[in-house]
This record gives sequence, structure tokens and C-alpha cells, in this order.
Amino acid sequence: MKEMEIKIYGHPVLRDTAKHVENLDEETLAELEGMLKAMYDANGVGIAAPQVGISKRMFIVDVGDGVVRYVINPEFIEMSKETMDDEEGCLSVPGIHKNVKRAAKVKIKYMNEKGEEVVEEATELLSRAFQHEYDHLEGILFVDKISPVAKRMVSKKLQLLKKESEKNNG
Ligand code: ZN
Repeated sequence: MKEMEIKIYGHPVLRDTAKHVENLDEETLAELEGMLKAMYDANGVGIAAPQVGISKRMFIVDVGDGVVRYVINPEFIEMSKETMDDEEGCLSVPGIHKNVKRAAKVKIKYMNEKGEEVVEEATELLSRAFQHEYDHLEGILFVDKISPVAKRMVSKKLQLLKKESEKNNG
């Protein structure tokens, strides 16, 4: 299996709108396995394909409830008006943790790694993870959604990450 490298803030792939997965072929399944390994190696609870440079609408979440979810072509069917505010981080934005307001409850539809359609309701950490990872497929990062005060606090750090990222990408 090819070792996957996590792309860091400033990499253009993180800003692309990811493409619909047409076929759950061997290549795609191998990519998902590579993503899972990269996620565990980095101690993450979620990883989206764009984070390893693959612009496809798929992500993995493992929030520690004993289920590893492979989420392909997700769609939110419902999002609660009620919100929750809690701290988030991201493997692509190392060293930054800030509060993000999210829908408290979501209903999501997706295809799993076996090609089955799954409809699931989620609250708390799972709801947050679904929304955070889904944003990656739209080219959105959690630091886009933090408060203006928090943005000011992290702007220097983000600049440094971006500089470093651009250097690594040549
Ligand atoms: Zn992330």
C-alpha cells in the first residue's frame, strides 16, 4: 500500500470541490484503506480524501464507538436548527484547536465501502465529525468557521502553516 501524506493548510487540493465517486472500484477501496492508515497513524477521528490529495467525495470517521464508517458521496437529509459549540482540530491544520458551531443533530445518507446505502442519524461527536469531514469535500476548513476573535488569534499560525506547506509543494 502506498503511504499517504496528509496535506497541510495552504495546499490547493484542500480548497477544491471534490468529485462524486462514480465507481467503488479497487482503486477507490485501496485509497480508503490508505486513508484509514493515515488517519490512525496521525491519531485522528476523521479523514477526508482531499486531505491526502484525492479530490473525491469520501471520508472515514472513527469516533471510538466501535464502528469505522466509510462515507462515500454523503448528503445531509436533515440538519437541526439547534446548534452545539465545541472545540475542533484538523489533521490538515496542526496545532490549532478552536470552537466551531455546528448543527446538534444531522441525518446523513451515504454509500458505505460495501456499496450499500446507509441512512443514519447522529448527535454529539459523530454529528460534528460528519459535518467537519463533509466540509472538506466542499473545500471548507474548520478555521473558516471560527469566530472573528479566534481568527485573529490564529492568523499568524495559519500564515506559517501556509508558508511551510507551499515550500513542501515546491
Ligand atoms: Zn479536517
